[in-house]
Amino acid sequence: MHQRKPDWLKIRVQDGKNRADVEEILARLSLHTVCEEADCPNLMECFSRRTATFMVLGKTCTRNCTFCVVGKGTTQPVDSNEPLHVAQAVKELNLKHVVVTSVTRDDLPDGGAGHFADIIRQIKILDQKVIVEVLIPDFKGDQSSLMKVIEAKPEIINHNIETIPRLYPKVRPMAIYERSLELLKNVKAIDPQIFTKSGIMVGLGETEDEVINTFQDLRDVGCEILTIGQYLAPSKEHHPVIEYIHPDTFEKYKKVSEEMGFKYVASGPLVRSSYMADKALD
Ligand code: SF4
Repeated sequence: MHQRKPDWLKIRVQDGKNRADVEEILARLSLHTVCEEADCPNLMECFSRRTATFMVLGKTCTRNCTFCVVGKGTTQPVDSNEPLHVAQAVKELNLKHVVVTSVTRDDLPDGGAGHFADIIRQIKILDQKVIVEVLIPDFKGDQSSLMKVIEAKPEIINHNIETIPRLYPKVRPMAIYERSLELLKNVKAIDPQIFTKSGIMVGLGETEDEVINTFQDLRDVGCEILTIGQYLAPSKEHHPVIEYIHPDTFEKYKKVSEEMGFKYVASGPLVRSSYMADKALD
């Protein structure tokens, strides 16, 4: 049954000038963003704020999450210039907080962890003060891959739990709920100075209790930063939207999760895992 999008999901049009600058820099440095690849509703707002989330390791993923519009199939070779190009873009955009994410590359021996580490180091060579947040895949639970990222010392390691465990087979079939929690737990155990962050989409058929239980599971592994946003179906081929969650419920989720001890919670219909990411460490 097709549901009409409620008013609270309407997006305000932003000015285009900064957006054109951002797009020019990205094109010149052959960089991708998850903003563009995942049709993020906040793209105009973020680009006009001269910020973006870089998507590295190509545009094609080896997984098949049913909520995700990113391309699936034959992956591209790793671009060895990408670390330098990302650092250059950070400089040209004068970013103080940069978010780097990637598709999942189960076809690479370390899942691309070494490439993430190179990018973090290149940015730090440029400016030690830039806050680097990496939104990483689960590296199939491989500890030595995760160590490569941890040793490069980003300020924030983000790994999205995405949804509640009951929905994993339908929403994230190649991921494992406990494996994602384990990753966040290992980061805190190995380097407690690194902030951990995770994000969940709602509106996929979960109950409020299931969502709140997932908050508790994340807190139990020391997760400090949380994002909660409305799932929007990229197309009719993707997992359907089961429910448009009311802003009051997002307020409730924010209050409940803050009471659980999360340092920073962004909760709202248009919130995405790197939306206003710079606010978390303000
Ligand atoms: S692993 Fe990430 S990029 Fe790949 S399909 Fe899932 S959400 Fe999309």
